[in-house]
Amino acid sequence: MSFFEVIEPVFGTYVMGNSPVIQLATGFSWTEGPVWFGDANCLLFSDIPSNRIMRWSPDSGTSVYRQPSNYANGHTRDRQGRLVSCEHGARRVTRTELDGTVTVIADSYEGKRLNSPNDVVVKSDGTIWFSDPHYGIMTNYEGFKSEQELPCNVYRADPETGSLEAVLTDFNCPNGLAFSPDEDRLYVADTGRMYQGDPTHIRMFDCDADGNLSGGDIFHSIDPGFADGFRLDSDGNIWSSSADGVHCLSPDGNLLGKILVPELVSNVCFGGRAKHQLFITASTSVYSIILNREGVQRP
Ligand code: MG
Repeated sequence: MSFFEVIEPVFGTYVMGNSPVIQLATGFSWTEGPVWFGDANCLLFSDIPSNRIMRWSPDSGTSVYRQPSNYANGHTRDRQGRLVSCEHGARRVTRTELDGTVTVIADSYEGKRLNSPNDVVVKSDGTIWFSDPHYGIMTNYEGFKSEQELPCNVYRADPETGSLEAVLTDFNCPNGLAFSPDEDRLYVADTGRMYQGDPTHIRMFDCDADGNLSGGDIFHSIDPGFADGFRLDSDGNIWSSSADGVHCLSPDGNLLGKILVPELVSNVCFGGRAKHQLFITASTSVYSIILNREGVQRP
């Protein structure tokens, strides 16, 4: 069995023949939101329908980090290393302080409740960018079935000033998002409602030094499946979820190769000793593979 598929020859230098896809943990309902804490040598990830955040460490295996988690989905860390989380159940984005208390970053816009924040990234200036599709309020599976009050936007929150701005308002259902290594591009997945004919693509926006966005053309359409979460490596390649594993896309949008995963992938993140380990949340499990690549370092 092969653990990857090389489409462009360069991808053959990103993977190693003796580095398998390893299942680290299983038995979950729907895993999402992987985030690596190198200082604690552990991975946190969401098990959304089970209303918990899990912790996996190569030293001590798997344990519950937080339960209930307000049906948390995507996570990242801010410039100070603090956990930033999207919570479907509480319809908000939060930051977990170093003493464990939780600070609300955003829960409403223009007097209306957010839908169900899905995924989040922090820019080097400290601003927090997140997607707000309605998946977490459509049913009682990944949160609480509720009325949708706002369109499915992408927002930028400034924790210094408390401001919240809808920066992208023309999406069907924005989902995963990430900046290029020098932050002059923002990539955002549009997952739609996952019906036939709905978007399955990632869009690419130019981002100027002040964080203003322009452009927004379709960068790449994921096939098979759809684009959910993704992360970038240090050369700007995009490692994206898909229906048959993780797709590696070049900065010009070409499919370079695939990491084959036996379950439906939701998201990925880089971590490990040299930031060369790709953690993959996929349906009931978490997998990882060591690559000859490293995750992007923020400027
Ligand atoms: Mg997502």
